[in-house]
Amino acid sequence: MGSSSLTPRKELKEIVTQLRTLVVLDRDIGLEPPPVNATTLAYLDNGTPSLNSLLDLRNFIGDCKRCKLSHGRTNIVFGEGSSKARLIFVGEGPGREEDLAGRPFVGEAGKLLTRIIEKGMGLKREEVYICNIVKCRPPNNRDPEEDEIETCIPFLKQQLQIIRPEVICTLGRVAAQGLMGRAFKITAERGKWLSMLDIPLMPTYHPAYLLRNPSAKRQVWEDAQEIMRRMGLEVKEHV
Ligand code: URA
Repeated sequence: MGSSSLTPRKELKEIVTQLRTLVVLDRDIGLEPPPVNATTLAYLDNGTPSLNSLLDLRNFIGDCKRCKLSHGRTNIVFGEGSSKARLIFVGEGPGREEDLAGRPFVGEAGKLLTRIIEKGMGLKREEVYICNIVKCRPPNNRDPEEDEIETCIPFLKQQLQIIRPEVICTLGRVAAQGLMGRAFKITAERGKWLSMLDIPLMPTYHPAYLLRNPSAKRQVWEDAQEIMRRMGLEVKEHV
């Protein structure tokens, strides 16, 4: 490309120009969906353009090979729900069933999450948004590793920016740790308000933990009630 003598800023500009040209060319021969509106192209610090719709972001992620989780996955689990959601749930990463379905929280833990949302909070699953710290299944359901989180988290942050919910609820230690970018002790910190991108964040236990430790449901219900109060929803004392 002959750009080695350019300043970083000029080089970036040249790359953007070339990308736009490619996108237009691809669109003209029918390969690509309509291009992202050029005026929305601002850049995050990791070089990811900041996009203004979930569809643009999904298209940008494409058939992602940015980290090693891509080798073992069946489907990218982008996230699902309303683009106008007032509440976003963030889990740690797709499990086997989610990987096969391409949808978040569809296994046993997902069924419990859906019950918490619908029976507990009185919302519909479709009106919230559900996603994960990483969008591809870690092998044997191990925790996502630092490099994988670092690669994927800008996409989650963009989802949060695009939707701008009233509340984020992280599920489990890995989700809180990944999103906050620091060590996190879930037993000590759950139930206490935090903030991410100026959005109130409530960390609670992961539903898979509740399946193994049903007595922790009481604490999750308290956290859910706290979220409902914050959102101005009617809080029922019993589910
Ligand atoms: N556990 C998660 O953390 N995320 C899912 O999508 C499913 C199970």
